[in-house]
Amino acid sequence: MKRLYIDFDGVVLDTIPYLYSALEKSGADVSNEREIRIFYASFDFSTIINDDNILNDSINSINKLIESKRFEISFLTHVNSLDEACRKTEYLRNKFKDITIIIVPKEISKTKMVHSKDAILVDDYSGNLIEWEENGGIAIRFSKEMESHGYRVIDKLDQLLNIFDENGDLI
Ligand SMILES: [Mg+2]
Repeated sequence: MKRLYIDFDGVVLDTIPYLYSALEKSGADVSNEREIRIFYASFDFSTIINDDNILNDSINSINKLIESKRFEISFLTHVNSLDEACRKTEYLRNKFKDITIIIVPKEISKTKMVHSKDAILVDDYSGNLIEWEENGGIAIRFSKEMESHGYRVIDKLDQLLNIFDENGDLI
């Protein structure tokens, strides 16, 4: 079984457009790190972390991945606040009893939190994928628009079953 790390925002839930529009509406100066941090600290993440934002049947797709027994699955997600961490954990634990959830502070690379060598990361952010490959991992880009940016790309999580064989090796 291959270790598989699944990003949350822009992969499990389509939270990013709502978050950015809320940030804009808040009147915060988006070029000012401090103002962005203050916005995140007070933002109610339960307004975007819910079933309304399920991305391309992600929950059912993850259940298919579990059933395939090809992967040892964990969630690996950056957070901006403790509220965000709690909401994501509650949401995911409610859907999946046995999947490990790894919360990563925004300022820290995902490669610093887990052993990336020979493990798979599915992520919509190229910055994370670049670091992942640099640290010996296998990077798969998730893109609603199927924009590859030089990576193998999927727009639905169960497409991993077409990319990795029964042993979790690349086909
Ligand atoms: Mg993401």
